[in-house]
Amino acid sequence: MDIDTRIKETLALAWKRCPVLRRRMEEAGLALEDIHGEEGLARIPVLKKDQLGDLQTQTPPFGGLLAADVSFLARIFVSPGPIFDPQGAVPDYWRRAQALEAAGFGPGDLVVNTFSYHLTPAGFMYDEGLRVLGAVVVPTGVGNRELQVNIITRLGITGFVGTPSFLAALLEVAQEKGHGPGKFPIKKALVSAEPLPNHLRNMFEEEWGIDTYQCYGTADVGTIGFECSQKDGLHLAQDIVVQICDPVTGEPLPLGKVGEVVVTLLSPVYPLIRFGTGDLSKFLEDPCPCGRWTSPRLAGFMGRVGNAVKVRGLFIHGHQVKALGREFPWAKALRVVVDREGVRDTLTLLVEGEGVSPEDLGALQKRAGETFRLKVDAVKLLEIGQLGEGKLLEDKRKWD
Ligand SMILES: [Zn+2]
Repeated sequence: MDIDTRIKETLALAWKRCPVLRRRMEEAGLALEDIHGEEGLARIPVLKKDQLGDLQTQTPPFGGLLAADVSFLARIFVSPGPIFDPQGAVPDYWRRAQALEAAGFGPGDLVVNTFSYHLTPAGFMYDEGLRVLGAVVVPTGVGNRELQVNIITRLGITGFVGTPSFLAALLEVAQEKGHGPGKFPIKKALVSAEPLPNHLRNMFEEEWGIDTYQCYGTADVGTIGFECSQKDGLHLAQDIVVQICDPVTGEPLPLGKVGEVVVTLLSPVYPLIRFGTGDLSKFLEDPCPCGRWTSPRLAGFMGRVGNAVKVRGLFIHGHQVKALGREFPWAKALRVVVDREGVRDTLTLLVEGEGVSPEDLGALQKRAGETFRLKVDAVKLLEIGQLGEGKLLEDKRKWD
């Protein structure tokens, strides 16, 4: 089926089953028959990721965007926000097998899946993709670095999926334990959830002989792009339409311009139409020499549009910082500062207040950790007025 027909069928289904999409189209003066193909799709207003939480609160549980009955789902995940992410009951629902296959995963591979299997969907995204390809999965999740190195060496694990920083952390432990380059069995890796800096890729590939690929996706729409053997940009995944759009107007931008990654998911379960991921990227103009996938390629992650920052694979949203502040009346202003020490993201909370006890600060740090579902490394007390009218989130990390 060609892409225009698939767009048409998905829209027709969403129009019938997803009242919120229908209302958004009607408010924009659009009828179903007004939309033809990918160009027509651009007339539909962008649904921003930031709006999902509110929509889900107004129309529980999925914001009127789920086309299937809830009882047909396989799993429901909870992303920070909280935002509910549905998983349909088909194998490899998030289409990650394609990315894994491009990275060389297949039968005969034993793979540590170091993504978390609870609340957020990343663990299952990889698990299902690997199973479809016939690889054996060892679900190790996040943390337990020494135990993981022990498992990897004893089982002769051949593949890794996880964040690049966690792979770097594992290699550090492996080195300490005498399993340095040449003695460490992992030969391939698919990494995602954070950028892969060149120095890390070089270390993985050249020092450790780990053939490393990147994958890009979100909890909402699943896999969006993946690297092929050329490792020069991300081929677009199947079952989606990707447009690079002006973050304000939502209009598609000319080829090669940087804009928001807007995805339409051609799914009968969760047909997200014109979903604004909040990520910035651009299309690469040259065709890929691999010749295997002819889809355009994305240049990879180039920053965030909205008021959010991704830390250790999880988003912190500006509204979460505001809500946290409301729980602590003594906190006159708050700011989350993200930085990087070696390969680890650090999270510092700056807070303005007067006559604040260490217990108050401790309680704030604990609550912040619960709210963001991330360890907050430090809380620093500032005098009132020092943060000024400043932003809620500050990202100091440099990616090459
Ligand atoms: Zn290619």
